[in-house]
Amino acid sequence: MKNFGKKVKFTLNLDPKLELVKERHKFIPDGYKAVLIIYADFELAWAWRYSKFMESSVLYAEKLAITERNNIPTILDVCSEFNIPITWATVGHLFLNSCIREQNLVHNDVKRIGYFENDFWSYKNGDWYDTDPAGNVSNNPEWYCPDLIKMIKNNAVKHEIGCHTFSHIDCTDKNCKSDVFDSEILKCKELASDAGISLKSFVHPAHTIGNLSGLVKHGFTSYRTDFDNILGYPRKFEDKLWEFKSTWEFVCFDDWSVKYHIYRYSEILKRSMKNNTNCVFWFHPSINPKFICEIMPSIFRFFNDNSDKVFITTASAYAEYLNSNGL
Ligand SMILES: [Zn+2]
Ligand SMILES: [Zn+2]
Repeated sequence: MKNFGKKVKFTLNLDPKLELVKERHKFIPDGYKAVLIIYADFELAWAWRYSKFMESSVLYAEKLAITERNNIPTILDVCSEFNIPITWATVGHLFLNSCIREQNLVHNDVKRIGYFENDFWSYKNGDWYDTDPAGNVSNNPEWYCPDLIKMIKNNAVKHEIGCHTFSHIDCTDKNCKSDVFDSEILKCKELASDAGISLKSFVHPAHTIGNLSGLVKHGFTSYRTDFDNILGYPRKFEDKLWEFKSTWEFVCFDDWSVKYHIYRYSEILKRSMKNNTNCVFWFHPSINPKFICEIMPSIFRFFNDNSDKVFITTASAYAEYLNSNGL
């Protein structure tokens, strides 16, 4: 019964919430009824290191990283089959083949975030990179993956590689000073550029929204928020940076059937088409493989079947569309 309430709210049309704005049609390209963007928050072991919810957070993080590694080629196959692009919000460290510890520190060139605690993480002692193995992709595949980034970049589907900070920091203005943020982002841009990638789309780790002026300064065109589950419209910060609002996360609940998951995500896109909104899904590629094998193919088929009515795109391509239309 644990997720039953979510079903009720969904049936009553209370979740996702429908946003009403004037001139809503200007956000939807001519000839289309909705805009669909799907993000993957791509982080391997970096996200859960300082989790407050478990004792062995590093072991848990490494276990998730291996699941994520195993899932990504299958996710890419499903995307190819149904021509669905994903915006991969990628932790910058994953671009590396290896790194080394010198005088007890790794990444001396990246400024450290100070000690902090938020709703998810508690970082109270040691160095931020203490769990960094200072190894390489063969021995420590949980912490590095230029191989997967290459696989995404070279895929026939036009995926996008976006940015999720270098080391999955809390980006709030309260916990992250602008010089730390700049240092993380410059490191990401340097590594991405070496891989022939220009970073345009950003996702704050755990939606720790902050340092927005920093994003503008570093040339990002959009970021994603998750203040609520919204079928709505983009909003502009400082006339330069687009905010895309999350609609729902891809989840795999034990107490929901495969059939219900498929129904629900298809129905969300139907509501988006009916109301001419953006539909922004996001997920962790470390999700239960059952989702990827049994649910994702059916919902991606449904998305693709509607591709004449839904502008299915990446975050940067949609920001480009908005900017080129003077919005
Ligand atoms: Zn490292
Ligand atoms: Zn994350």
